[in-house]
Amino acid sequence: MNDTISTIESEATAPLTGLDRCDSCGAQAYVRATMESGVLLFCAHHATKHREKLAPLASVWHDESERLQQD
Ligand SMILES: [Zn+2]
Repeated sequence: MNDTISTIESEATAPLTGLDRCDSCGAQAYVRATMESGVLLFCAHHATKHREKLAPLASVWHDESERLQQD
């Protein structure tokens, strides 16, 4: 049974919505870092701030911050 793994992967890469909020400041989240210990959400500002430390530790670093530039 691989159901658990595929569910985690699809949740880790699911599109972020306006309801997803940065864990640091509460702004709209554009990055989801899926860690072994849980999921962290960041706005573009905090994603940039924490990426260097956290991205290598994350199982999935799902970054939609380029959507900001398209708006
Ligand atoms: Zn933030």
